Amino acid sequence: MSEQTLSSPAAAEASPQGGSQQFRNEIRRRRTFAIISHPDAGKTTLTEKLLLYSGCVATAGAVRGRKTQRAARSDWMELERERGISITSTVLSFEYEGLLLNLLDTPGHEDFSEDTYRTLTAVDCAVMVLDSVKGIEAQTKKLFAICAQRKIPIITFVNKLDRPGADPLGNLGEIEQVLGIHAVPLNWPIGTGRDFRGVYDLVDKELKLFSPVPQGAVRVPTETAKLDNVSEEQLDPLLLSKLRDEVELLECAGEPFTREAFLEGQITPVFFGSALTNFGIELLLEALHEYAPPPAPRPSDKGMVPADRPDFAGVIFKIQANLDPRHHDCVAFLRVCCGTFTRDMEVSIARTGTRMRVSRSQRLFAQERETMDVAYPGDVLGLTIPGQFRLGDTLCIGEPLQFTGQWQFPPECFATLRCTDTQRRKQFDKGLLQLVEEGAIQLLRDPLAPSQEPILAAVGALQFDVVQFRLESEYRAVTTIHRLPYRMARWVKGSTEDIENLKVPSTGRQLIDEDGLTVVLFDTEGMFQYCKKMNPNVEFFDARPLR
Ligand code: GDP
Repeated sequence: MSEQTLSSPAAAEASPQGGSQQFRNEIRRRRTFAIISHPDAGKTTLTEKLLLYSGCVATAGAVRGRKTQRAARSDWMELERERGISITSTVLSFEYEGLLLNLLDTPGHEDFSEDTYRTLTAVDCAVMVLDSVKGIEAQTKKLFAICAQRKIPIITFVNKLDRPGADPLGNLGEIEQVLGIHAVPLNWPIGTGRDFRGVYDLVDKELKLFSPVPQGAVRVPTETAKLDNVSEEQLDPLLLSKLRDEVELLECAGEPFTREAFLEGQITPVFFGSALTNFGIELLLEALHEYAPPPAPRPSDKGMVPADRPDFAGVIFKIQANLDPRHHDCVAFLRVCCGTFTRDMEVSIARTGTRMRVSRSQRLFAQERETMDVAYPGDVLGLTIPGQFRLGDTLCIGEPLQFTGQWQFPPECFATLRCTDTQRRKQFDKGLLQLVEEGAIQLLRDPLAPSQEPILAAVGALQFDVVQFRLESEYRAVTTIHRLPYRMARWVKGSTEDIENLKVPSTGRQLIDEDGLTVVLFDTEGMFQYCKKMNPNVEFFDARPLR
């Protein structure tokens, strides 16, 4: 893995500090976003094309190339390769017309939703990619719900308009009905399937007619025209007349787009296109430029913290060990929320008050790492300081503050884990501790038999495979796993006496988590409701409160 210094410490010293105009400009030009989608909707292809159109790569395919290189390089990625899924998140930073875009990649497989959910805590905006033919799929629905709950504004990109069966009107209706958000198209496809010729820009009232290039490897030539000024050579008269009717209908019936309503999460602007053939990519980039918000204020125990607060503060939203197993390193991903970060800065961890100098700060571009000397609100840093951080930790200078938010998500799968080789018990314990620290898994124990094998709790069952795989490959601890029939966990809050006398149904199980908090597992919602009735003095929570 390459490591190089981008700019000298002297450059860091000269960096604009909180309060200056240049600092505010740096904030204003940043857009930190994620792409959410169901697997196969075209997220990777779209990412490549965003890089292509921003001038970051000369030909599409570079991202996938990196993916393959990475898979070939490490055992850990072997699992990724075997299953054809993307497990680890990376951050891509690229410039477009003076903007600095930070794209936080989200693992697509449904069992990795917990990591994806966490990544969504660090973005200011999301691009939702739909497959026009398949419409809204399960994973999209789940991720949309998280964004809606967090009031993250969403730009919709309806992909694969070049495929037969693409149904733009149907897509709009489905977004409204299934997701419950107003869908306002800002462009409209000119033809679909084999006839897909381009898009009509409903804002500039202009046709954008594209000429395909093989594999969409380079930018496609684009011609523009007005609706009343299109020649027959440019567009088949039948397609033109259909487009005229559709535009008339949209202009009469459509809801107007306002940026305010978008930022408040009431509407989603919809763009149609085809990532594979590059049709419509530029309009999506322009939308990120024009409509997506710069780094937003973040909630904390001291109230909302604006990005232009002069003192630096940031939050750890993800921890990942052994990204590169040769180095056995552990990377904590930090989102800068306010102020300017400079390398070698002394910061405090709000949770413990520990002060530390941050010298190993890196920018992660796919597999490459570069030392990052300066970072502004909206940027994401990888910090390689082992064992110091926990998920949700705030790092800050000046007056201490703790960002609030959810970093643990309700587990739905449970299993017991046993180390089959007693000689490797120490390594097994060490590995488990690391995985818990990362938030890859939650660990529960029987309070009456704490030395018994632990119970793992995860959002998706594939997380168990990852835990076993990593324990074996990184800690040489072979394990066996037995799934348990529980479907939900509830953390219990109440007086010591009430918790001691907790009445748990016979099909449930009372456990404690790593912090000694009481958790009850249930096999059905009905059993949980019954338990709630039996214990009216305690409160139940579906996720562990922040440690
Ligand atoms: P991801 O799983 O969401 O990252 O999806 P990928 O980007 O890997 O795409 C899944 C499949 O859909 C691949 O075979 C792509 O070539 C294909 N694909 C992506 N975008 C388009 C598109 O606009 N049109 C068509 N026809 N295929 C596409």
